[in-house]
Amino acid sequence: MGVHETSAAVRIWNRVLSEIEEGGDNIYLRLVKPLEVTEDSFVLSVPAEYVQSIMQERYLSRIGDIASREVGRPVKIQFVVERSDVGEGQKSPIYDHTLVIPPRRVERRFSSNLNAKYTFERFVVGTSNKMAYVAAMTVAESPNGRTFNPLFIYGGVGLGKTHLLQAIGNYVVQHHPNMKVLYVTSEMFMNDYIEAIQTQNSLSLREKYRTLDILLIDDVQSLQDKEGTQEEFFNTFNDLYNANKQIVLSSDSPPNRITSIPDRLRSRFQMGLVTYIRPPEFETRVAILRKKSEELEITNMPDDVVFFIAETIRTNIRELEGALLRVASYASFSDSEITLDLAKEVLKDVSEPPPVERREPVTISSVQKAVASFFKISVSDLKSEKRNKSIAWPRHIAMYLCRQLTNASLEDIGGSFGGRDHSTVLHAINKIEEKIQVDKDLSQTVDQLMEILRG
Ligand code: ADP
Ligand code: MG
Repeated sequence: MGVHETSAAVRIWNRVLSEIEEGGDNIYLRLVKPLEVTEDSFVLSVPAEYVQSIMQERYLSRIGDIASREVGRPVKIQFVVERSDVGEGQKSPIYDHTLVIPPRRVERRFSSNLNAKYTFERFVVGTSNKMAYVAAMTVAESPNGRTFNPLFIYGGVGLGKTHLLQAIGNYVVQHHPNMKVLYVTSEMFMNDYIEAIQTQNSLSLREKYRTLDILLIDDVQSLQDKEGTQEEFFNTFNDLYNANKQIVLSSDSPPNRITSIPDRLRSRFQMGLVTYIRPPEFETRVAILRKKSEELEITNMPDDVVFFIAETIRTNIRELEGALLRVASYASFSDSEITLDLAKEVLKDVSEPPPVERREPVTISSVQKAVASFFKISVSDLKSEKRNKSIAWPRHIAMYLCRQLTNASLEDIGGSFGGRDHSTVLHAINKIEEKIQVDKDLSQTVDQLMEILRG
């Protein structure tokens, strides 16, 4: 369904989303579906009463204002609780909702496009996202464009890239109210560029972007094949960079995997720190579910249900949240306790495509093989007593990768590297973690090895 064929109700709802969400997405708004516009009302469907009451409490007047303005006469907001939507083996409203595409919007007054809900406090840190988190936090704490510039964060869909970019923005705005911060998706940047061409007003485009202190630009992979936009972005990047203004980029893949962008742009992307987010491991998924339950004030969420959801949804945190909400709203509207059986019923049609990481789990031995062949040494060198740099250094890297990519303990890792003790392993890992922050070659080497190991 394209934007053009959507009905008035969908169009108005898109408007609501784009104005209320301000670039992020809102877990409650995503549960709502626009139904119709009648003589005097705008009718919305919600999957449960409690979603309706949250909507009424928090958003009613804003939705009313926007809808009335769009319709051109005062309309009131009506809710219909659609119970049949959930648990029918069809797609849930959460997923249906992805059909509603927010309209492109060009902001005239200056707005940072930040959504206050994306903060560092709300970001659960685990092994899979720790490096990216630390890098983002570092930039947020000293946004002087000198530490890592640009910061480039990549990772799969729904793993927290937007959350981190926005968290940097929110942190800076809070601590440095005078700094001019802008979050845009690459799509929004492109629309601004297109509008500047159409209105022959490139001055206002420059005014908007080149006077920033911090530019947070999301999903740069979508600049692929957009030559004019790339050119404009390249110039914007250079201007900001040369003025020591901080740039943070996100993408679904590392710079060297973004094809169809010119090399000079790619090399700009790699000038600072390139870091990544991996799919969360089980413990992090559990921690995220607990945190979200708290935030959503779901108080009766038993552990076995949390574990079940964390086992079922492995590769996308947005879907993890979605599953939690489905379970909670199902229980709420059927007036039942949240139990394992209920969760199994509600999520019975959720089957994740086998994630890449499950195809072949990374083991200590696969890390050793990959590192040895990368550095053209032997696995027995890695396990040996040899201390010369050409061997000790790959050994450090291999230990670090084992820690990152497997669930092995420090003892296990030490044992597999010629019986070293856990403090030796820890020392090696710390060394790499420190160095990776400042050494671009090392961080790229580690990135490459990660790619190789994860297939
Ligand atoms: P991406 O931009 O990588 O596709 P998002 O940043 O939009 O992913 O994250 C998807 C959802 O998951 C958001 O609601 C976000 O708040 C949540 N999320 C992602 N990572 C975390 C995390 N580590 N802790 C808490 N919530 C997270
Ligand atoms: Mg995103």
